[in-house]
Amino acid sequence: MTQMMKAAILHELGKPLKIERVPVPEPGHGDLLIRVTACGVCHSDLHAASGDWTPPPVLPLIPGHEVAGTVAGIGPGVSGFRLGDKVGVPWMYSSCGQCEFCLAGMETVCKSAEATGYTKPGGFAEYLVAPAAFVGWLPQGSDPYSMAPILCAGVTTYRGLKRTQARPGQWVALVGIGGLGHIAIQYARAMGLRVVAVDVSDEKLDLAKSLGAEMVVNAAMTDPVAEIQTKIGGTHAAVVTAVASRAFEQALLMLRPGGTVAYIGLPGGKSDEIRASISAITNWELTVRGSNVGSRQDLNEAIAFAANGLVRATIRTVALEEINAVLDDMRKGRIVGRVVLKLE
Ligand code: NAD
Ligand code: ZN
Ligand code: ZN
Repeated sequence: MTQMMKAAILHELGKPLKIERVPVPEPGHGDLLIRVTACGVCHSDLHAASGDWTPPPVLPLIPGHEVAGTVAGIGPGVSGFRLGDKVGVPWMYSSCGQCEFCLAGMETVCKSAEATGYTKPGGFAEYLVAPAAFVGWLPQGSDPYSMAPILCAGVTTYRGLKRTQARPGQWVALVGIGGLGHIAIQYARAMGLRVVAVDVSDEKLDLAKSLGAEMVVNAAMTDPVAEIQTKIGGTHAAVVTAVASRAFEQALLMLRPGGTVAYIGLPGGKSDEIRASISAITNWELTVRGSNVGSRQDLNEAIAFAANGLVRATIRTVALEEINAVLDDMRKGRIVGRVVLKLE
C-alpha cells in the first residue's frame, strides 16, 4: 500500500496553498528520503507562490527549502548515511557537477541547477526526497527548529558577507532585517565586523540591536544614506536582503570609497530594476556583486557557526496548516525573525 503524507501544495500562482494528502516520494538512485522535522518559511517561498520571478515555479509545487529532518530512506548508490541521521536540505537541490562553474566551486551559478521547493518538491510536507550529494549534515545534538533557517537564511547571508570581502573591524551595512538580515547580523559579528542595520520597522531594528548592531537606521523615517555617510563616513561593505528596489539603490550609496555591496534580495517583477550613478561607481571605485544562496562548502561552514553557538535564528514555530497566514504576514512585513513550520 502506498504510504501517504501531508503537504502544502501550490496549484495556481497567487492563490493560497492547499493542505492535501499525497504519496510519500520514493528515493531514486543517489537520493535520500527525509522525514521533515522543521522547515523555515523564506521570502523566496512567497515570491514563488506569488509568481514574482521568471521562469515561474514548476506546478503543482510543494514549496520550502529550509529543511531540517532525519534520514528515513536510502536510495540505491548512496553510501555514508544511516537511517535517523540528522540532515538539512537547502535551496540548491543539485547542480550538474561538470560545467566550468561547478568545477570552479561556483556551483551556485550552474545553469543546470535544480532548486528545492521551486523546480523540485520542497519541505512544506512530512517527507521529501533529495540527492545525498547536496544534503547538509546537521550536528546530531542540534535543535532542528532553530537550525532550519540556517539552510537558506544562514548560508545565503554568510556567503553574501564573504563576497563583500570585508575584514574584521570594518563596517558593514545590513539592509533589510527580516529572516535573512537578523541572521546576517550574527554572522557579521562572528566575523568581527561592525554592523549598521537598516530596515523600515522599529521592531526589527530593536531585534537588530539585541543581536549586536552598533547603529540602526529606520529608512522609513530617516535618509539612511545621509545618516551613514555623516555619522561614520560610509561603510566598507553592504549586504542587501530587503524586498524593495529603493534599498538596493541606497545601499550602493552607503559605501565609503572602495566599498563593495552584495545583492541578495530578489524583489522581482516590477521592482527588479534600479537606478545607479555611473560616476559614483567609477569615481569611488565601488563594487556591486550578486550572491546566490551558497555552495556546499559555504553550507558546511555556515552550519558550523550555528553548531558552535555563534549564530541562532530567532524563531516562532507554527503548524503546517498555518502556512497561508504566515505568507500573508510576510507579505505585510509583519514577521520579526523567522517562522518555522513544525512537521513533527
Ligand atoms: P523577509 O520578509 O523576512 O525580510 C525582508 C525585510 O526587508 C523585512 O524586514 C522588511 O521590513 C525589509 N524591508 C522592506 N523594505 C525595505 C527598505 N526599503 N529598506 C530596508 N529594509 C526594507 O524576507 P527574507 O526571507 O529575509 O528574504 C529577503 C529577500 O532575499 C527576498 O527577496 C528573498 O527572495 C531573497 N533571498 C535571496 C536569496 C539569494 O540566494 N540571493 C536567498 C534567500 C532569499
Ligand atoms: Zn530562501
Ligand atoms: Zn554545473
